Amino acid sequence: MNRSRAAGRSTLASMVLLASVLLPQTAAAASAFSIERVAEGVYLHRGQQQDATAANGGDIANIGYIVGDRCVAVIDSGGTLAIGTALRDAIRRETAKPICYLIHTHVHPDHSFGDPAFADPATMFVAHAEYPAALAARRDGFLANLRYTLGAAADGSGSTVPTLLVQDRETVDLGNRCLSLQAWPTAHTNNDLTVFDERTKTLWTGDLLFVDRIPVVDGRATGWLKVMAALRALKPAHLVPGHGPVQHNVDAAFGPQQQYLDQLINSVGAALKAGTTLAQTVDTLGREPPQKAWLLFDDYHRRNLTAVYTELEWED
Ligand SMILES: [Zn+2]
Repeated sequence: MNRSRAAGRSTLASMVLLASVLLPQTAAAASAFSIERVAEGVYLHRGQQQDATAANGGDIANIGYIVGDRCVAVIDSGGTLAIGTALRDAIRRETAKPICYLIHTHVHPDHSFGDPAFADPATMFVAHAEYPAALAARRDGFLANLRYTLGAAADGSGSTVPTLLVQDRETVDLGNRCLSLQAWPTAHTNNDLTVFDERTKTLWTGDLLFVDRIPVVDGRATGWLKVMAALRALKPAHLVPGHGPVQHNVDAAFGPQQQYLDQLINSVGAALKAGTTLAQTVDTLGREPPQKAWLLFDDYHRRNLTAVYTELEWED
């Protein structure tokens, strides 16, 4: 009995100790995971404007959710299981409605590796028709990269194969709230999908729009310019970019990115016409100062030059 009482006291003491250790961290994690309201029923968690590091825990992409009368749609799940879980917990603090859709804007891991947090038979995973093939080709590499960067913090993270594929357009209804999904030809990637909330005219662009952070070409820069023109024509009242702050003016939102991609295409095109090699082109143009002080410019500009050179090399 004594032993049992002692064991009980010891268990209680352990629980108190555990709670005192865990609670402040949990509270800190909850408060650190910021959610901002974009429009009525539209909520955003803004990732940091950095590459993934152990310090930021891979929390670098914009993710969020939209609440309808019947259910909730999540847009992108974040870079890790922990981030997806934090988003799910934030939704649960807001509403008890079921999460009926998890919509992926594209295959990049900073937007999709939180998927396991939303594993539920009631949740349909939605993506561009090209998403499954892109995921199959790159998933292992993405995962190895995340493990290298985050170590054990990457455990349990990864993308889930979508169950509803969008070839062109699709509408999903959250209950008195229709979202228009559009699958685009190759631009930032070959599997970009946008979400347009008809009620508030809010456009979730995924990485078809970078604000302040340098755009990354993982698809076709020339295709991206065409898609941007189509996105402008939607005349959204609010734009949620894949990276950076929410925008309310279409020209101000897309202008810098358009200028950057135009310049990239023109300068690389001229180098190709002059017979300059890839290495010379990247070396020469890579030294030119940017027109705008993009975040992460030194990390991605030369890579973009290489991508656009390869893209234009095969065109007339
Ligand atoms: Zn991306």
